[in-house]
Amino acid sequence: MRLLEEKIISEGRVLSDQVLKVDSFLNHQIDPSLMNEIGKEFAARFANDGITKIVTIESSGIAPAVMAGLYLNVPVVFARKRKSLTLTDDLLTASVHSFTKKETNEISVAKKYLSQDDQILVIDDFLAVGQAALGLVEIVQQSGAKVAGIGIVIEKSFQQGAEKLKELGLRVESLARVASLSNGEVQFMNVQVEELV
Ligand code: 5GP
Repeated sequence: MRLLEEKIISEGRVLSDQVLKVDSFLNHQIDPSLMNEIGKEFAARFANDGITKIVTIESSGIAPAVMAGLYLNVPVVFARKRKSLTLTDDLLTASVHSFTKKETNEISVAKKYLSQDDQILVIDDFLAVGQAALGLVEIVQQSGAKVAGIGIVIEKSFQQGAEKLKELGLRVESLARVASLSNGEVQFMNVQVEELV
């Protein structure tokens, strides 16, 4: 997605060979008009898949997921990372090791928000080694619902997450695919950085 790739080039900061910081539009401050376009793009890619609900994970998955939910006209459920006093219903849970925070969280969704009739689109901000997406898939599968696909805003294609998910037969649609973060530079799959304004 050209607009997103341009934004990554102009505002992203390469923190290391492994980590890209995009705090100015996705992970801290949020660019609503970019999120609107991202939502539109996810909705277009999954328009014919009978999606009934979107599942994401707090906090950075919520903005793109809500915009996709708006265009697909379906509700959005976000998995919680911490136990909440108000989250007292029957829960579906999975264990997720965070790539950036180096900690393991139990993520949970109330059972009542997923049913076996649902066709779920899983959305997240980043795909690295695939732990977050796999945790969400596990929760969806526990409910008996079907995972129709996985929508990722920024895939780091040099890490194993996308491959792992595809090996499981899951469809992955990533709006920007980063081939490398070496030497402090972002390289995309199939796009020359010089083409981007
Ligand atoms: P995974 O579970 O696929 O290893 O990592 C995905 C999660 O880790 C995402 O939900 C995202 O929050 C975080 N993450 C992974 N890599 C990056 C990165 O390079 N930059 C940022 N900002 N977050 C990342």
